[in-house]
Formats: sequence, structure tokens, C-alpha cells
Amino acid sequence: MAEGLNRIEFTPKMRDEYTILIPNMAPIHFELMRSIFRLHGYKVEILQEETESAVEAGLRYVHNDICYPAIVVIGQFMRALESGKYDNEKTALMLYQTGGGCRASNYVHLLRKALAKSGFEKVPVISLCYGGIEKNSGFKITMPMLRMALTAWLYADMLMLLKNQVMPYEARPGESQRLTDEWVYKISGQFKNQKGLGKGNIRKNLAAIAADFASVRIIAGPSRIKVGIVGELYVKYSAVGNNNLESFLVRQGCEVMVPGLLGFAFYSLNIEQENKRLYGTPLGKLLISRFAVKYLSRLHQHLIDALGPYPRFTAPAPFSQLKKNAEGIIGLGMCMGEGWLLPAEMVELIELGYCNIVCTQPFGCLPNHICGKGEIRRLSELMPGANIVAIDYDPGAARVNQENRIRLMLAVAKEKAESKRP
Ligand code: SF4
Repeated sequence: MAEGLNRIEFTPKMRDEYTILIPNMAPIHFELMRSIFRLHGYKVEILQEETESAVEAGLRYVHNDICYPAIVVIGQFMRALESGKYDNEKTALMLYQTGGGCRASNYVHLLRKALAKSGFEKVPVISLCYGGIEKNSGFKITMPMLRMALTAWLYADMLMLLKNQVMPYEARPGESQRLTDEWVYKISGQFKNQKGLGKGNIRKNLAAIAADFASVRIIAGPSRIKVGIVGELYVKYSAVGNNNLESFLVRQGCEVMVPGLLGFAFYSLNIEQENKRLYGTPLGKLLISRFAVKYLSRLHQHLIDALGPYPRFTAPAPFSQLKKNAEGIIGLGMCMGEGWLLPAEMVELIELGYCNIVCTQPFGCLPNHICGKGEIRRLSELMPGANIVAIDYDPGAARVNQENRIRLMLAVAKEKAESKRP
């Protein structure tokens, strides 16, 4: 803790009285997470915000050479506290952090500085981080909560995957979104009754989700340009962070694939195994990591199995394959930021037919800029079909420039598709 900044702990008493604000990142995942927090006794609100207003507020409190996700999420918090919508005496903020060696570990400190500067220094900040950067007596991720959260991510990954694959072709616009909302509601209800968590229930739900999306009436026609989105965790998923990238691509006639969030969980949980290989992690940590990776892989297999009966749907590769994808491109010890996950997901996308890729890179992101750019070059040598564009997201970047660069990438994709036609 830096000098002059008081840390306000989130206490058990606050748990009953406070509303916790969380900036949105992946809408389906976060909606399910909100239900889980509520079930475990936390009042939670997910913040929705426009890019411009969040960035403008963020820049008032955070220096513009700090990485872009920090500017956006801190801006969202400050806007919420200034809005008058919340009782700031009874409001806490939750910041998700990836931890590790990159700048994500400093977000909490930056946020506290912003709070102190604006007179909100009494507002407690909870750091939600796999590595456990700070502890709060009133907030604890318990094992049942963690199990529910990982299962929720599995369902959310499935819904995101199918929504993206069906929506561009649906005959009745809005059908896939309606199905997604219905399933989020249904799963939240099941969680309330401690259902939807066992192997049998998970498989049944996933099969039903796949069947529902397969029954959506679609318009026959030329297939769309397939585009994958990878990059830094926040800007990859957050519409606020990436200027509504997914919607833009759909409007340009694309079918979008965004790799699931469970892939990031797998990558994070796997880190101790690489640490053991390189530096000698204590045995206890290694065993936990092995158990967690195995558990997650089994969970993920249910999703792959559920898509088996539907060849028109593209299923992700198993995690064991994902890790192998990075070999020959970057060392698996590279676990800073998105580390080896970034090239691994690009290889996976290309192999699944999503050869056109937008690699989202926030300004100030050392791991993604340095490694990401180098990886794209290596990947293009190894996989000549790849058509990858790196897009920078920063407070000064004009949306029109970002979109024009993506349009250029799409023009190349169209040319390639034309040349393959008989
Ligand atoms: S991954 Fe990049 S953008 Fe994200 S916190 Fe780390 S340095 Fe910043």
C-alpha cells in the first residue's frame, strides 16, 4: 500500500448493507456471475457504460500512459459514484485483476488514488483476483461459489459460442438473443435451487442449449466472412473497451468467434505447472493446479460433446490441444498478460476456419504489444492462410481509424475468398 492511501476493508457488516459495483466485461458471463453473488449474499450491480463517457471520466483520474483497460474501468467507477444513483456511503467497488507481473496488479492502487482525489476515499475496493492480491473479511470466494462460477462460465461460453454462430443467419432477427436471455434466466433459477451443477444436469442443459440453437430458422445464402477476436482479456470481450467490435463485425457481414473465458481460466490455473518446470513451485501449489486443470478440462469436454450431434456448429478444441498450439511460437513459461494463450487461440481459430483475426491490443499493454506483435509475424510464417490485424485501443484512437483498418483486413479476406471460387 502506498503512503497516504488508506485501505478500507470490506467487512462482514458491509456485506449485508452495501451494493458492490462491477464493470461489465462479458455480458452473458457477468449476468450469471451477478446471480451467483446474489445467491451468496452479496448485492451486486453490473455497470454498463458508453466508451466515450467512461474514457473521459477515466482520464480525469488516471494518467493517459496507464494501460487502457485501467482507464476505462476506473472511469466507469467514477461515473457511477458521481452519478448520484448510488448511496456512496453504502457502495463498494469490485475490480477484477489478472494479477501476475503485468500492470493489472496495480489497478487497485490506481483506483484508490482516484477515489482519494475525488473525495470518495471511504468507498471500499474489493480485488477479485485468482492470485489473491488482497483479503477482505467480508468477502470470500468459497469452494461452492467457485464451482458455481466455473460452471456458469461453461454455460456462458456455450451460449456466447452458439449465439455468435447462429445470429448472423437467423431468419427472425433477435431470436438468438432471446434464447440466450432465456437460458441465462433458466440457469440462474437452477443455481438458486442448487441445480445445474452436477455432471448429469450440466450435460442435459448443454444438450438442450445446443438443440434450441439448432432449431432457430436460418436464411440460406452465401456464408459470411469468419472472423475471430483475440487479444488482451478486457478489450477482447468488453464492448465498452473495444468500441463495440462484435457488433461492428456483424454489420460488416461477418460471423464472429470469440474464444471462451474458460480458456483464460485454464491458462491461469496452468501457470503453476510451468512455474514448477522452470522455477520449482512448491508441491502443494502444483497439485492444486493439476487438479484444477483436470477439473476444468472435464467440464469443457461436456461442451464439446454437446456440440457433437450438430456438424454445422464449430466446437472449440480441448484445452490439452490449446496449450500445444503455442509450441514453436512462444515459450509456455510466458505467462505475463495473456502470455501463450494469445498465439494458442489464434492457431485454434485458424484451424477452425476463422483465418481472419482481429487482435485487440490496449495501449500501454506491455505483454500484449511486445509478444503479440512478434507472435503475429511468426504465426503468419507458420500458417500462410492467416489474415491478422492488430488493432490498438487507447484514449486517443479514433474509432473510424480502427474500423478502417479492420475494413482493410476484411477486404483481403474477401479477395482471398473470391480467388478460391471455381
Ligand atoms: S495485460 Fe496489458 S492491458 Fe492488461 S493489465 Fe496487463 S499490461 Fe495492462
